[in-house]
This record gives sequence, structure tokens and C-alpha cells, in this order.
Amino acid sequence: MCLALGTAPRPLRWGRKDRAARASCIKDFVKRPEKFVIDKLRRENSSPKWEGATCPHCGEGVLGPLKDHGEKKGGRGHRCSRSLCNRRMTPRSFHRIFSKGTVQSFSTLADQAAILFCAVAGCPQTTTRLLAQRNHKAVESIYGSLHGAQWADVEADEVDLGKMEDPAAGPRTATPVIWEQRGGIVQRGAPESLVLFRLQPKKTKRRAPGPGPIRKAGWAPLSKKWLKNRNVIFHTDGARSYKLKEQGVVHDWVVHKKKKAKVKGKWMWLKPSHSQKRYHDVPDPMKAGAKKRIWVKTGTQIIDGVWRELRRFVGKTKAVGSAHLMQKARSFQWAHWNRGKDLWHETGAMLQEAWAKKRGW
Ligand SMILES: [Zn+2]
Repeated sequence: MCLALGTAPRPLRWGRKDRAARASCIKDFVKRPEKFVIDKLRRENSSPKWEGATCPHCGEGVLGPLKDHGEKKGGRGHRCSRSLCNRRMTPRSFHRIFSKGTVQSFSTLADQAAILFCAVAGCPQTTTRLLAQRNHKAVESIYGSLHGAQWADVEADEVDLGKMEDPAAGPRTATPVIWEQRGGIVQRGAPESLVLFRLQPKKTKRRAPGPGPIRKAGWAPLSKKWLKNRNVIFHTDGARSYKLKEQGVVHDWVVHKKKKAKVKGKWMWLKPSHSQKRYHDVPDPMKAGAKKRIWVKTGTQIIDGVWRELRRFVGKTKAVGSAHLMQKARSFQWAHWNRGKDLWHETGAMLQEAWAKKRGW
């Protein structure tokens, strides 16, 4: 699998021996109940483990364990603990390959897993279509999201972590407040792709609410480094500095504003919508010169969640630019990269690596 920002794909090479001993086969997915398929996917890390994570819809509740909530409520899923939200995340929510599908092109998780299995085993799409008895849409979307050079959803935003009076400022300085501001980029569904960077915001007056969004000059080199030519749908809030034209990047932004609309003959204020569905016609990486339409969910829910976790992790405001804060931000990034993995195991691996470097092995 190719992640736009993440790690290199693991090559699919099997020797004859491995082929015989492979743990899965197509029988594991065909006509199996949903519970069986989900358990299998979770065991093999092909399904995210949402339990204990902050709810990406409301950002306050904590997602509970995987439970069956009945057919009407989406089947097996994780329920948000906040009573006002109460939404359910299914194993397909925010998944990079599996989707809920529309009414016309609905397919069960087992069907989708079977198609994925065929794709990984190297079946051509026409064969998979016959084997799985699905139409081209269901097969194409899974092949498309699996094979390299596909379009990925990436979010970016900035966060203020603290402020203090500049020690060098005199009593008459107009803008004496310096800010600790971080920017972040993350690919949806791939926490290991999180990139954090420190920003150099403008100094402000004493009572300013914040240093404002990232500046164009600060964003341009980052955009070149992390987004250019990577085929990404790039989600931000309304900040102008992000609106750079870049090869291989389609920008999609949301405006967090209240809107007035006529509902049943009455004028009402509608809540700002933080997430909508929108489509983009983008160049198809699989067919030169062709375009394909992809539907995306707008909004910056994932990176907003990252900021909430970071704030909780950093705790009380620390001095701007302090070593303590730097260290906190770094270890947060490491924990986020390894989210859902066995942190104990990863710590051991990290220490081994550090020791090997020191000894010059
Ligand atoms: Zn919630």
C-alpha cells in the first residue's frame, strides 16, 4: 500500500514456502458473517482499533469497545460516550480502503474484504469482478485505493500552545507577546504520517486572541516538501495562506460560519457544517489523460483531534520555546506515529535502534 506521506510500501514477495503457509485464504471472507470478518481484519491490523480514541465527530467523547448495535444502527461499531453525540464509528469509518458504499453500490464488508484479497493476490480486475460477482464500481474503488499513485486525503492546520511576554521587550513595545504555534499535516487513516513543525508567528499586542493563521511565506516550502506531486486532496479550514496552486494537490476547504437559510418557509440560522460531501474531478493515475471523480468528506476533523490530544499531552502552558515543550511535542509525535501498536514493543525497538547508532553497529 502506498501512503502519500507515510512509510514505504512493503513489497509483496512470497517464496514458495511462505505461499503454502499463508494465514488467510479467500474462504475466510466469502459468505462469512460480519463479526467473523471484522475480528479477522482486526487481528491482522487491516481494521483500525477505535476503542479509547477521541470521537472524531464531536471531539469530546471517548469511543467505547466494539459492540453490536443492531442492523438499524450500523451493526458492529464503537459508540461515542458523550450522550449528546452518541454516534457510532464502524470499522469502515475513515477507512482507507473499505467504505460504506451508496445504496446502488452497496457491498458487505465481507465482499469488500474478498475483493481486497483478490487485489493483493494479483488478480486482474476483470477476474475479480467474476469471482466476487460485483459490478465494476465496487471492484474499481478498492483496486484504486490499494494501488500506488492513488489520491489520498490530507489535512493541515495550526495550533497555539502558549504565549508569554517577550523578555527582550521594553515597556513601550507595541507588540510584546510571543506565541508558541505549531503546524501539522496528517494523512487520514494513517497516524504514522503525522508531521509537526514549529511556526514563527508574528508578535502581537497583549490582548490579542492569537497570532493568526500560518503565513504564506511559512507555508510555501512545507507545501513543496510534503504535498507537491503526491496526488492529495488537501483539506484545511478557510485560511488563505494554504491556497497555493501546486501540481498534484487539490485544495478543499471549509468555512466555519453560520448560514441563514429558508427551512419550511421560515428563515433560520443553520449551524456551520464542519463536514460535507463534495466531489473533485482529478486526473486518473491509472489511465493517462483520463479524469476520475472522487467523493470526499470535507473538514479537518482528524487534525483537530490531534490538537486536542496534543494539548492534553502538553498540559499547562509552558514557556514559549522551552526545551520541556519541545520534548513533549516530540514524544507526542512518536506516540501518535505508533498509535494502535504495542507501545511497549515499539519502545524496545526504538531503544535498540538508538543503542545500535551509539555503538556504531
Ligand atoms: Zn462523539
